[in-house]
Amino acid sequence: MSLKKKIVLSFLVSAFIIALLSAFLYLNFVEIKKETMFLELTDTIRSKSLQLRRHEKNYFLYAPEHAGDEIKAIYGYLKELDEILNNMKASNLDRTASLKELVLAYRSQFSSIERLVNDISAESAKLKMMSPSYVKVSRLIESNFLDKPLEDVRYLKEVFFLGPEHKLVACLTELDTEINALRKTGENILSVSKELDKTARDKVDGFIRISRIAILVFFPLFLIVGFGTILIIIGNVVKRLQMLTDVVEKTGEGKFTHVAEPAHAWGSDEVGQLIQKFNFMEEQLDLREKELLRSKKLAAIGTLASGVAHELNNPLNNIYTTAQRLMKKSGEEIPEYIKKGLDDIFGQTMRVKSIVSDLLEFARGRELHPRALELRSLITGAFKQLGNTKEVGNIRFHPELRPEEIVLYADAELLEQVFINLFSNAADAMRDGGDLLVKVMEEDSTVRMSVSDTGIGMSRDTIERIFEPFFTTKDKGTGLGLAIVFNIIQKHQGVIKVESEEGKGTTFIITLPKRAVGPENSSR
Ligand code: ADP
Ligand code: MG
Repeated sequence: MSLKKKIVLSFLVSAFIIALLSAFLYLNFVEIKKETMFLELTDTIRSKSLQLRRHEKNYFLYAPEHAGDEIKAIYGYLKELDEILNNMKASNLDRTASLKELVLAYRSQFSSIERLVNDISAESAKLKMMSPSYVKVSRLIESNFLDKPLEDVRYLKEVFFLGPEHKLVACLTELDTEINALRKTGENILSVSKELDKTARDKVDGFIRISRIAILVFFPLFLIVGFGTILIIIGNVVKRLQMLTDVVEKTGEGKFTHVAEPAHAWGSDEVGQLIQKFNFMEEQLDLREKELLRSKKLAAIGTLASGVAHELNNPLNNIYTTAQRLMKKSGEEIPEYIKKGLDDIFGQTMRVKSIVSDLLEFARGRELHPRALELRSLITGAFKQLGNTKEVGNIRFHPELRPEEIVLYADAELLEQVFINLFSNAADAMRDGGDLLVKVMEEDSTVRMSVSDTGIGMSRDTIERIFEPFFTTKDKGTGLGLAIVFNIIQKHQGVIKVESEEGKGTTFIITLPKRAVGPENSSR
């Protein structure tokens, strides 16, 4: 992910968190507003209920004479309560409904009390006309029947012998029941309105608490996500740039290393790409320098080797011909040990001669003489020539060319030497026999050749060094074969690669341009 994307993403995530928090708080505040309005209403209901009860008390104290104001006040409050309750929306429907019912009951109870009070006054007046003795106590009864109706009943029963079926007694008894019921309803109205008030308060408290918690949770989250990720991104970029600077400094001192880039996802942004490009550049530089060093080394070795070889060539030839002559001249009569010694001198001289000729070949660097050549005959010819100097009887040779006839512009003598050297190494690697497979494929502008054996293979360390001159793992090797091959392929602007597995075999792959060293540029 690119740096820009990372930063935008982190911004979006933190913006999302803040938006979430704001939306949540907004909704919460809307709820709080609603609840406070409801709370105001419940508060009014409560105070109205208290007023109602106060006037109820007064009514019972002053009725029936001075009750007009109280009655008006009581109906007034009942009306107000009704209005408030009817306008109340949603929220705590159960309680408002029960409150409504209670107010309704209160009204009907109160009006039946009023009716009873009228009835009682009328009955009392009637009784005054019929019984002169009642007149004396009527004032007492009329003034306190609202307070203690049952006491009046008892008095009327005992003193005036009125039965329970007498209208005045019946009304007073009923009045007592109604008063008690009204008081009970009044109490209920108070307690329900109190509860309503309390739940509304609790709800508001709850919303405020939730808002507080949301802020406490979301805000730190926003800080962590927003600033945290930005800090991590910056820290990461700075760290990697620092690593890059260190490596650049080292490169300046001529040491080619590369940035050990962390492999996780952060590595794929712009800085990661920069580091990757830089690492690639370092590798190329390192490779170039090694190549330069190698060609310089090779040139130096070449000069030295050719000097030594030239110097050795003449004395070697002398030793060789002298030994030959001595062997011829001495005939049969010389002792066995001298004959053996001469054989030895002859054999070793031959070996040194081959080394010297390898050296001269390696150092010679003669000009190319390219011509059109047919590969099949060149390859089979090379294998035959190897047969003259090496035992190849137990090696099965498979040349596979696609197409059968492939023509290439190259130096025939040198290319033959390439194959002889490769075949010779393959034969050395397959002392107990095996398969030698040569595949040649013609491609658009190149020819791809591979030489595979089923021999002993090579270790990783060996593979790294095989093209170095004088590198050998053999007792009697010169270590020049592959160095010569490498030089020849390079002169033909080709590439040589090797694949090998210990105990399984080795494959050399050569790619040569078809006409890179054609007649027109044969002077190179
Ligand atoms: P030499 O044959 O004189 O040792 P070369 O330059 O031809 O020198 O080869 C260098 C080394 O590469 C050999 O000593 C051997 O260890 C290794 N080598 C080359 N070709 C093969 C092969 N086909 N199989 C196994 N090892 C090989
Ligand atoms: Mg060799």
